[in-house]
Amino acid sequence: MLIRELLAKRGDAPVQTIEPECTLFDLSVKLRKHDIGALLVVDGRNTVVGVVSERDVVRAITKFDDGLVRTPVADIMTRSVITCAPGDDVVDTLELMNRKHIRHMPVLDQGKPLAMISIREFDSICRHLQVQSRTDELTGLANRRYFLEMLETEIARSRRYHTPLSLAILDIDHFKHINDTLGHDAGDTVLCDLGKLLVRELRTFDGIGRLGGEEFAILFANTPAANAKLACERLISAIRAREVITSDGSTRYTASFGLTDAGTDTPDGQALLKAADKLLYQAKNEGRNRVVARQTDPQSDPMPGFHDSTSPTASCEAREVTPYTAT
Ligand code: GH3
Ligand code: MG
Ligand code: MG
Repeated sequence: MLIRELLAKRGDAPVQTIEPECTLFDLSVKLRKHDIGALLVVDGRNTVVGVVSERDVVRAITKFDDGLVRTPVADIMTRSVITCAPGDDVVDTLELMNRKHIRHMPVLDQGKPLAMISIREFDSICRHLQVQSRTDELTGLANRRYFLEMLETEIARSRRYHTPLSLAILDIDHFKHINDTLGHDAGDTVLCDLGKLLVRELRTFDGIGRLGGEEFAILFANTPAANAKLACERLISAIRAREVITSDGSTRYTASFGLTDAGTDTPDGQALLKAADKLLYQAKNEGRNRVVARQTDPQSDPMPGFHDSTSPTASCEAREVTPYTAT
């Protein structure tokens, strides 16, 4: 993000300036009136000659004592001003401010003052950018990149503490048909519906992400495959019970799941995703609307009705109707 985009977002008020001849009393009145932490000091030609902040005023109190209110701004302002331009990058600028311990950064456009931005504003915009870069815009869930990051972290944790970890990939069945019959917007509504359902039905510490298109993933931390499988079956039931009403008509949908646990030999997140994806493919081939699960961890209790995933009986069609409630 560029500084100019940040300024556009904040719907900017005109930049507040003060002249070097003004007194600290004038300065204090202006800072208070506009509720800002610093002002740009400009000369008669609107050229920036300094920056003056609340901190400078506080420092001046000890220096000028009772002559304070008549002291000119020129006596306390910082003269070597570090500035940025509208075309500069927000993250780079924040990094510079932190490095130089600057709390207020003037934005100059061809040498003329355009705005003043505080470090607090930069901080919040950078936090916002970070959240944005991790979030899938449509559903608000973790995006693929962030989900992969969570997955790598959980694999490392599971190895370190010898705790079980399971991963499911789910994909809406015949989603193209929903798009084709009701339109892309209705398709988007279904994707959002599924996103909300996953958040509602799963525990707060289960990781949920949208990998792309109509494919989602769930990270069951500290959960053996047998328990994760029960959760997926409950999700299947909850999904099947949904009717999504859109302005283009109503629809029902189902989803298929590929589920695996992380074995001691799982090299990384990509490999685990690949393994779950293979099982998802199998669920599609076996008729959709089902979970195909694989358990590799010999320490875990066997899954109820579990068979090797290569056998046709490994898939299960969910029959449970009780929604999976958070524990
Ligand atoms: P299957 O049961 O085998 O998964 O069939 P499918 O129709 O769900 O799968 P397919 O891969 O044939 O089609 C997926 C469709 O999802 C095609 C694509 O246009 C659509 N799609 C991908 N991303 C989005 C999105 O963000 N919004 C909407 N509305 N559609 C999307
Ligand atoms: Mg699909
Ligand atoms: Mg798909």
